[in-house]
Amino acid sequence: MIIPVGRVFQLDPKSLHMFYDTAGPLIAFNRAGSLFLNARYYLAWHDAQVVNGDMTEAFISWYFTLAHEIAHNLVEQHDSEHEFYMSSICETYLMALVKLVQTGSGSFRDLVDVSV
Ligand SMILES: [Zn+2]
Repeated sequence: MIIPVGRVFQLDPKSLHMFYDTAGPLIAFNRAGSLFLNARYYLAWHDAQVVNGDMTEAFISWYFTLAHEIAHNLVEQHDSEHEFYMSSICETYLMALVKLVQTGSGSFRDLVDVSV
């Protein structure tokens, strides 16, 4: 589930990690460029739909979560600069997300590589 969304951002799959905690508000975090996503939120928010074959909300939700965490590679704190980079990241990769939602495979490279 998370690997296709990571592919939208051209992330190395090895930089993506899932964790599960039993309580707490942590949806995701970035530690030295490695991104950690809380499986508990995935299960609570998206799993039932995904099991029924509807990936759309899960893709969109994880897209924004990953964009938030990727922006932390540039700005550690939550401020207007972080917001700027997150918005820029979302704008850059939005069409790859659209492709992922439409086809189930979102490859940013496919969208920008005109030689194919
Ligand atoms: Zn944050």
